[in-house]
Amino acid sequence: MHEMSLCEGVLQILEDEAQRQHFSKVKAVWLEIGTMSGVEIEAMRFCFDVIVRNTLADEATLNIIEIPAEAWCVDCAQTISIQQRYDACPHCGGYSLQVIRGEAMRIKELEVE
Ligand SMILES: [Zn+2]
Repeated sequence: MHEMSLCEGVLQILEDEAQRQHFSKVKAVWLEIGTMSGVEIEAMRFCFDVIVRNTLADEATLNIIEIPAEAWCVDCAQTISIQQRYDACPHCGGYSLQVIRGEAMRIKELEVE
């Protein structure tokens, strides 16, 4: 389950930010997760609860924002929404697609004290 290491990464960022910005407690975390990032949202929630136990984010609420995937079709020169990698363009049926959004996971916002 790679969500476990992703959550460890998130916690690492929280700890680094806590040092940099001098806060001691994280109350809420907003995570943006692209629909093509391969991250399982339910697994992410479960792992987050486990990872943050007895840390500065012990009581933090995890808010997940799903980012729909979008790609640029080179053939018809427009942005289209896609469900998964290797989908064909719904307009021209072509496969010259460049994914522009929805492949990543990032921390959007933190509420701290
Ligand atoms: Zn197209």
